[in-house]
Amino acid sequence: MDELIRRSEKLTTVGQLAAGVAHEIRNPLTTLRGFLQLQRENNRLSPLHNEIMLSELDRINLIVSEFLILAKPQAVQFQVKSIRNILQDVVSLLDSQAHLFGIEFRFEFGQEKFEVHCEENQLKQVFINIIKNAIEAMEAGGVITLHLFRPSQDRIGISITDQGLGIPGDMLSKLGEPFFTSKENGTGLGLMISQRIIEGHKGTMEISSKLGEGTRVVIILPAAENKEKP
Ligand code: ADP
Ligand code: MG
Repeated sequence: MDELIRRSEKLTTVGQLAAGVAHEIRNPLTTLRGFLQLQRENNRLSPLHNEIMLSELDRINLIVSEFLILAKPQAVQFQVKSIRNILQDVVSLLDSQAHLFGIEFRFEFGQEKFEVHCEENQLKQVFINIIKNAIEAMEAGGVITLHLFRPSQDRIGISITDQGLGIPGDMLSKLGEPFFTSKENGTGLGLMISQRIIEGHKGTMEISSKLGEGTRVVIILPAAENKEKP
């Protein structure tokens, strides 16, 4: 796989943040609108519809609060958290959406908790962005593999591998540039925001991809020290 070291990108303007918020809440709003239209035409929504609407509303709420946290770095609270738990939370949020596209999650987590010193909501935002990209790249369904490992004693590795369309070589170098997107409804802010959050956690993010085979995102974060455990 072609390797790309993620470049450092900074969010600089309020305009970029505003566009990011609009981007991230458009999909759940579209779902909610579709269901409400269904309700108007059929006057009947199933319990499943209700469930999805509730989880989409929760998602909007989460995204807005995460962007508020990103917009106010002074309010960021770092705590020791388990990456396992964070990933499980994020997957349960995206699971119903993934199922609609014939996508399954595979966990390679082992027994460890994999604790890091982090702002939990920011890391959740990163994993939401990456897993959403994976789902959007897998039109024919398939498996998204989440793997936790120790690249060294004091670091934790997270890899997220999809079986999607892959990324052409000439596009790899543009990833993470603000507004770079190949999608009709994309704004190309997800990876930039993710990159910025990972840098804020003294970590690294690398993306490798092979056209027609899939894409892998590897994040390396410093492991939390034992004495910092709650
Ligand atoms: P957006 O999703 O709005 O396009 P992102 O910053 O999340 O913005 O991603 C930028 C671009 O990177 C995408 O438009 C897509 O072309 C490419 N990309 C990111 N992740 C993947 C992936 N898992 N598979 C294929 N292409 C991807
Ligand atoms: Mg995206």
